Amino acid sequence: MTGTTQRTTQDWQAADSAHFLHPFTDFQGLARKGARIITEADNIYLRDSDGHRILDAMSGLWCVNVGYGQRALVDAAATQMQQLPFYNAFFQTATPPAIALAEKLAEVTPPQFQHVFFSGSGSEGNDTVVRMVRRYWDVLGQPARQVIISRHNAYHGSTMAGASLGGMSGMHAQGGLPIPNITHIDQPYWVEHKLPGETMDAFGIRAAGWLEAKILAIGADKVAAFIGEPVQGAGGVIIPPATYWPEIQRICDRHGILLVSDEVICGFGRTGHWFGCETMGFRPDLMTFAKGVTSGYIPLGGVMVGDRVAKVLIEQGGEFEHGYTYSGHPVACAVALANIKIIQDQNLVGHVHDDVGPYLAEAFALLGEHPLVGAAETCGLMGALLLVQDKATLKPFDAAVGIGMVCRGHCFANGLIMRAVGNRMIIAPPLVITRAQIDEMAALIRRCLDLTLADVR
Ligand code: PLP
Repeated sequence: MTGTTQRTTQDWQAADSAHFLHPFTDFQGLARKGARIITEADNIYLRDSDGHRILDAMSGLWCVNVGYGQRALVDAAATQMQQLPFYNAFFQTATPPAIALAEKLAEVTPPQFQHVFFSGSGSEGNDTVVRMVRRYWDVLGQPARQVIISRHNAYHGSTMAGASLGGMSGMHAQGGLPIPNITHIDQPYWVEHKLPGETMDAFGIRAAGWLEAKILAIGADKVAAFIGEPVQGAGGVIIPPATYWPEIQRICDRHGILLVSDEVICGFGRTGHWFGCETMGFRPDLMTFAKGVTSGYIPLGGVMVGDRVAKVLIEQGGEFEHGYTYSGHPVACAVALANIKIIQDQNLVGHVHDDVGPYLAEAFALLGEHPLVGAAETCGLMGALLLVQDKATLKPFDAAVGIGMVCRGHCFANGLIMRAVGNRMIIAPPLVITRAQIDEMAALIRRCLDLTLADVR
């Protein structure tokens, strides 16, 4: 049976485990448990194949910024599919939606960005970054500038280049990663690295200094770029001190190194500005985006190329031997335009910055009083709760307890999607969330924390 309706959950699960290799999944473990089958969604709520209503505090995979069920995106896709479902951007051709989206992105991104290179995903966007920064230095006659510096526990995607840029040890352990000339410094995570008595500001400066030390160790004439997420998402919503990114900027400027902001999660309003670099106060040369550009309704990604790089590639670079079949896919671009129109018309960035972002911070501050929570942190509509065994000392639970997974299990059972990253429970709800829905989400989180506490005490 291959239809998509009228099947029981058990039937779906059997077919799923027989044929579908899921991403980032222990295949046998999933086969034993059976996948949760999500069948429909509206606003910030999902429904599964057993009819349960679930509050999606993760926006799918950090992407459904405008929420589910936005008719304008569906209509944009349908209209474009009828008119021109596909044409490529190779060989000196273009389509109106791709051109219009390039123009729109130049409008909503910081002023140094007037050009875009489209990809199909964030990982592909970061592959483009690697190709592009190395090409830039080649064209400038400095081919030795090959090394790209990233951070441990960063996530930059799952292709060879994306996973190499990323700093996930589990990913590096499989398949011979990272590829050559990609190296990592520590993340600016205060729980792991801040010294007793050190202020957050001082810690931020010191953590940025790890970049300078690495550059000096390698030799600045060999370093092409530094890449980072303004706020590390998949690593557990690691929000750097306010001093960190401006200092990173100064270090990159001092050594002439390109600064790349991976905005795949932080872009399109998530942090309370259009882009995370604006929230964190730095001025990147390149910016990777995906997810929120279409709110995940259809795949699309890309790289915003700042004037410094664009000028060299355009005026001196000749042909850039790189591109994807779906670079500038007209249907994806039409959906992105409709999505950005909603973000603008509904002032969702202002909604996050002035209203629900601060409201979430208040709700998290209250959750921070829970006996299991050692720290509650937010940035716009990203949030993390650090689960600890001892609130006063932040002593962590033994890893064998799997505290995050225990809590996540309660979330699933109670109609809430939250993600567990080690001992951090994280959220990134759709930007359309209201204050009343934040209250509802916070009450669910509190219930799940209570249930988790009952399990471990
Ligand atoms: N960069 C960041 C910061 C991400 O969070 C992700 C995905 O979560 C990616 C890149 C990869 O994007 P994609 O999964 O669309 O390839």
